[in-house]
Amino acid sequence: MFENLSDRLERSFKILKGEGKITEINVAETLKDVRKALLDADVNYKVAKQFTDTVKAKALGMDVLTAVKPSQLMVKIVHDELALLMGGDSVDVNITGSPAVILMSGLQGSGKTTFSGKLAQLLKGKRGKKPLLVACDVYRPAAIEQLKVLGEQIGIPVYSEPDCKNPVQIAQNAIKQARQDGQDLVIVDTAGRLAVDEEMMREIKAIKDAINPNEILFVVDSMTGQDAVNTAKEFNDRLDFTGVVLTKLDGDTRGGAALSIRTVVNKPIKFVGTGEKMDALDVFHPARMADRILGMGDIVSLVERAQEQYDEEEAKRLQKKIAKNQFDFNDFISQIQQIKKMGNLKDLASMIPGVGKAIKDIDIDDNAFKSVEAIIYSMTPKERSNPELLNGSRRQRIAKGSGTSIQEVNRLIKQFDQTRKMMKMVAGGKMGKMMPRMKR
Ligand code: GDP
Repeated sequence: MFENLSDRLERSFKILKGEGKITEINVAETLKDVRKALLDADVNYKVAKQFTDTVKAKALGMDVLTAVKPSQLMVKIVHDELALLMGGDSVDVNITGSPAVILMSGLQGSGKTTFSGKLAQLLKGKRGKKPLLVACDVYRPAAIEQLKVLGEQIGIPVYSEPDCKNPVQIAQNAIKQARQDGQDLVIVDTAGRLAVDEEMMREIKAIKDAINPNEILFVVDSMTGQDAVNTAKEFNDRLDFTGVVLTKLDGDTRGGAALSIRTVVNKPIKFVGTGEKMDALDVFHPARMADRILGMGDIVSLVERAQEQYDEEEAKRLQKKIAKNQFDFNDFISQIQQIKKMGNLKDLASMIPGVGKAIKDIDIDDNAFKSVEAIIYSMTPKERSNPELLNGSRRQRIAKGSGTSIQEVNRLIKQFDQTRKMMKMVAGGKMGKMMPRMKR
């Protein structure tokens, strides 16, 4: 996401490299470039103009400390303004009350159904909610089916009334049902159309008036750029929604919608969808997004994801095994599973400052672990827990079984042995003893 814009902004800042101080002229030149970069990223032109005007006023009005280079100062100002443009602070989803009710709105194909599933899973897992998903699309039976399949996949009940043609009634009945069953969160997925149309607007407005939701989230495909912003405006004029969800940010290299929508409708972006899988959902943090746009990575989100997967008991158990030199291939594979649970590898790597740009053209996907997994799964349980058993003929068998080569198997085992030695040294305190010698 945002790759093109990141590159362009970086080039704009180069104009200031080597300049001793900020002047009217070099600021104007840099900002002309920044404005072009924003327009090429499909940012609304009024938003782009306002943005560069503000940055200019700030840059010229600043007492430039000699310790700070003009280019660094400009990056800092642009960063802070980008964060403000996207809303400043992040705004939490409102799930108070029982049941809390969230209504989805948006065009067909924007990703409403997918997001409904993702949100239900997120709020169940992180906030301990008991969600009920509601299928209110009375025109497309396939849409009801899609929600049911998702619900089953994530273990969340789905309410539907296939024979009822009145979405208002379905939504009301669903809320009643949730109350009876002790479900404290109702997520209502609605019908969309391919373009804004009067009947759809009337229908969703009627649902809103009948169920009085905590949140009305407008879901929009970020890849549609300026169209996304225009649609947002139309929906907001009619519905006065409470928040925006930008989907498909994984495919959006420009980012215009993310940058303009907040200013145009004055409603916070609350979530972003970054893939088709159920866990590809991020809470939206404007400052962190600004970090990413400027190629500064997003180390905070990376650490948070790691913490979510961190299992203290498991860590203690591993520590003990490592100290006794008992770390085996079962532990190895469970570590790989942990990393995979954190999400898409490329996405993770791009959160490390400086790494995102370096790897943007490299193909890294979750298949990276495939051959390692195949090799380990081709070992017998006994071999996995006693890697010393792995002699030549066993290695041959494993290579064959995993569809890899003997070289690959040897390499993995060698790496594993080295890792194990290193771990033992650290856990056994040898590192500590080595330290004073290294200092000398
Ligand atoms: P709806 O008609 O608004 O309910 O849209 P759907 O939920 O059916 O989504 C339309 C398509 O977009 C489906 O193929 C989804 O898998 C896909 N999709 C939804 N969200 C994302 C996302 O964040 N990233 C990507 N790459 N695809 C998504």
